[in-house]
Amino acid sequence: MEQAILNLEHLSKSFDGKKILDDLSIDIGKNEFVTLLGPSGCGKTTTLRMIGGFIMPDEGRVIFEGKDITALPPDKRHINTVFQKYSLFSHMSVADNIAFGLKLKKKSSAYIHDKIKYALKLVDLEGYEDRHPMSLSGGQQQRIAIARAIVNEPKVLLLDEPLGALDLKLRQDMQKELIKIKNELGITFVFVTHDQEEALTMSDRIIVMNQGLIQQIGTPVDIYNEPENAFVADFIGESNIIDGVMPKDFLVEILGIPFPCVDSGFGRNELVDVVIRPEDMEFQKPGSGMLDGRVTSILFKGVHYEMKVQAGGFEWLAHSTEAYHPGTEVGIYVKPENIQIMHKPTSAAQE
Ligand code: ATP
Repeated sequence: MEQAILNLEHLSKSFDGKKILDDLSIDIGKNEFVTLLGPSGCGKTTTLRMIGGFIMPDEGRVIFEGKDITALPPDKRHINTVFQKYSLFSHMSVADNIAFGLKLKKKSSAYIHDKIKYALKLVDLEGYEDRHPMSLSGGQQQRIAIARAIVNEPKVLLLDEPLGALDLKLRQDMQKELIKIKNELGITFVFVTHDQEEALTMSDRIIVMNQGLIQQIGTPVDIYNEPENAFVADFIGESNIIDGVMPKDFLVEILGIPFPCVDSGFGRNELVDVVIRPEDMEFQKPGSGMLDGRVTSILFKGVHYEMKVQAGGFEWLAHSTEAYHPGTEVGIYVKPENIQIMHKPTSAAQE
């Protein structure tokens, strides 16, 4: 990470006696695209609102460029927020919407005019000055909301599920657009989503949260390939998660069957979570894999087929470019390096 622009230090927050954030610490680098990812209610928005200055933490500090801004109001921070609901003023033109913050700051009309032109060009909506928000598509409204935030020249832009209301194609276009804007402006983005794919596509680093606790911080590749626990593995992509026992190094027993693996350093007979990605499930002839099973369902997913397989009393999820139809008997094989072994969570909050 480059030099940090934001340090969240030991942030905690309770609402109505319930702990929503528990000792959360994150350092965010200059010009980084960081995504807070987690299920609904895990505290993503609360974290973002603390950075933006809309919520005070019960404990902990928000440090911006080395200064404590915990108690600073939102408009005194070099930080702007784009919300999911675009919150554009419907009675104002696009230009007036974008100019709103600049007028409050009493900028000259020539300055405001130039900024509007610049921002509209950046979000590919040149010439839209006189339109009204209601005459624009959801994607266009979202771009205006981004333009409105950008003209304030924030050093950090907070985005709370900004693409949540858009359909898939528009969402993908906007993802590219946001990355382009971030690279052109060189500002720091803190992005909130519960969409794993979006987080993997856009982020320099992902912070996976659950129940107010950080589960893992890492690059998309790290998070996907080396999840630190079963929660992350499950949340970041579909997985087969199953109990296992490690009788010794490099061997895990799943459903009582020994599977060679590449992990070591676990306690003797430690009860572990075993994670196997559906794309790592290989089908062979019955009798030649590790255990035999029967395909129970198949779905065509475009690039692959998704099969469910009953084997050893467990329902496995498998992806393959080949179709295996319900009733087919298969032998399941998994390469040792594709078997991920994880300690069971110890904290109650992670269960
Ligand atoms: P989502 O993806 O659904 O937006 P989130 O991860 O952003 O979820 P938060 O909005 O941070 O979650 O909310 C975390 C928890 O805190 C939720 O249970 C929510 O109901 C609660 N909460 C948030 N704000 C308040 C508030 N002002 N008063 C009481 N409870 C609140």
